[in-house]
Amino acid sequence: MSGAVPLDLAALESATERALRAAETTAELAEAETSALGKRSALAGAHRSLGALDEEDRRRVGRELHELRGRMEALAAELRRGLHERERAAALEADRLDLTEVVLGDLRSPIARGRTHPVTQTRDALEDVFVAMGFKVAEGPEAETDWYNFEALNMPPSHPARGMYDTFFLELGEPETIVLRTHTSPVQIRLMEAAVREGTLPIHAVAPGRCFRRDTADASHLPVFHQVEGLVVDRGITFGDLAGTIEAFTAAYFGPEVHSRLRPSYFPFTEPSAEYDITCTICLGAGCRTCSNTGWLELGGSGMVDPAVFLACGIDPEEWSGFAFGFGIDRCAQMRHQIPDMRALVENDLRFLRQF
Ligand SMILES: [Zn+2]
Repeated sequence: MSGAVPLDLAALESATERALRAAETTAELAEAETSALGKRSALAGAHRSLGALDEEDRRRVGRELHELRGRMEALAAELRRGLHERERAAALEADRLDLTEVVLGDLRSPIARGRTHPVTQTRDALEDVFVAMGFKVAEGPEAETDWYNFEALNMPPSHPARGMYDTFFLELGEPETIVLRTHTSPVQIRLMEAAVREGTLPIHAVAPGRCFRRDTADASHLPVFHQVEGLVVDRGITFGDLAGTIEAFTAAYFGPEVHSRLRPSYFPFTEPSAEYDITCTICLGAGCRTCSNTGWLELGGSGMVDPAVFLACGIDPEEWSGFAFGFGIDRCAQMRHQIPDMRALVENDLRFLRQF
């Protein structure tokens, strides 16, 4: 066998094995198989060189090369299984959702605890005060018909008082005009109609809820705001009952150093009507910039239920009398917490909201 290149099969095998084992991913292994076992590999070269050997050597070396290739292919298959398993486990780990994970927020507590919005807190506190005074809590729809929002409250289509309410109209005319309620007063009508229908007069109820007007948001107005409406209908109710109820609520909610006063005003659904003010919560009556040095802040409106409203609901104004009052819950929160700009209530700045 002179002239034949001696084949070092042991060296060929260890080089091929090294190349395969160096692969760290299934993709690298596929490349290593191509270069170590493919057509241009040293192994394929050794096969081609068999032709130079004599027949006996050719058969022997050919068999050894065949066995070597078999071992290398088995090794590659085994390595591929291992790498595939490793890659699958890594992908699963990356996708894993750890439901026990503790999210570390910027609070000291490991779990950031939520809380109710200051307006909701104020609404809850007001409800507590009125329930303690014997009122029931009632609710009504936020989308109202023209009848409940205006007409039954003594505001026919031509009434100039409708100009006081910049209204969001949902549907005009046929079959009915539907508006986003501009105040909680429609709940008064619903309460009186229900009491007449079910024979459950008298009424002592408060109705808190969301209202809507086309106001541009500023320091003391929001286009979506909250009101609480109070309604008492009974026999022999006087203006003194109204004044006493408002004073009792004011002291219970704002504290004994805060008082109320009534100023003559006009609302189409009450007669007589009064705005009501409370002692300035900033200066407690001494006079400051917030109250324009008057010592008083305007909180809401009130009055004796107009006989025309009673008649619209089917209640005899000769037998029954009553009063109603209403004020903004947002404004109440603003006064109690001395918030200079009401828009802070809807900006969702957690640094602000976490103070309450
Ligand atoms: Zn003041």
